[in-house]
Order: sequence, then C-alpha cells, then structure tokens
Amino acid sequence: MLVNSAVITGKGADTAKGRSTQEVDQIRTLLQARFDDLNAEYEEAVAENQRLRLVEIGDAAGDDQADSGSKTAERDAATSLLRTLLDRRTQAEIAMQRLDEGTYGNCENCSNPIPVERLEVFPSATTCVHCKANRERRAG
Ligand SMILES: [Zn+2]
Repeated sequence: MLVNSAVITGKGADTAKGRSTQEVDQIRTLLQARFDDLNAEYEEAVAENQRLRLVEIGDAAGDDQADSGSKTAERDAATSLLRTLLDRRTQAEIAMQRLDEGTYGNCENCSNPIPVERLEVFPSATTCVHCKANRERRAG
C-alpha cells in the first residue's frame, strides 16, 4: 500500500509527535499565563514610561545638568524594559500560535517532544536538553 506523504506531513497531521492532548493543554495554560503576566508587566511599564516623560516635561525648566542626566538614564532603562517585555510577550504569542499549528514544543533537532517541565522554565526552548547539550559541546 502506498503511503501518501502529503497526508502525513500536511497540516492537521499529528505533528506534535508523542505529545498527549493533556500535555498540549498544559502547555497552552502555561503560555497563556505567561502571556497574561507579560501583558500586565508591559502595561505597567507603559504607564511608568509615560509618568517619567510627564515628570521630565514638568520640571525640565529647573533642571541642572546632573539631574537631567539621571532622568535620561531612568527613561532609557524604562524604554529598554518596554522593548524587552514587548519582545517576550510577542514570543509567548507566537508560541501559542505555533502550539495551535502543532509546531511548538518539539525539538528542532531530533523532533522529540520537549518535556513540559523544560518548556515551563524555558518557553522559548527549541531543542531538548539532550540536543542542547550536544550542540553546546560542539560549539564550546
Ligand atoms: Zn532533541
């Protein structure tokens, strides 16, 4: 009997190799919680950023040089935090999309499912611990 490879590799195939529905749900919950956390942090950071800008506009007139320097540093830190949070939030979002497509959470090297415990700690992990160790050994 002929094996239709298009059916096997096509969308809707069992791409989440060896992963139970229960585990997929577990990962989805993890990613959603992470996204919500990052979203809350991001909104807080946006508010903080706006506050810093308002303060800056408010007392720019009376500033001496040192003061305005430390405010710039503070604002730069807030801006960089914003970028980091936005970036991580986007990663969580992409991870959820990939989970729906069945392309999230499998090792890109050996295509075995990455254990949920590892994804919980490193949601952006793309390789299993074993392959990561191998890669680092080669690289180092
Ligand atoms: Zn692997």
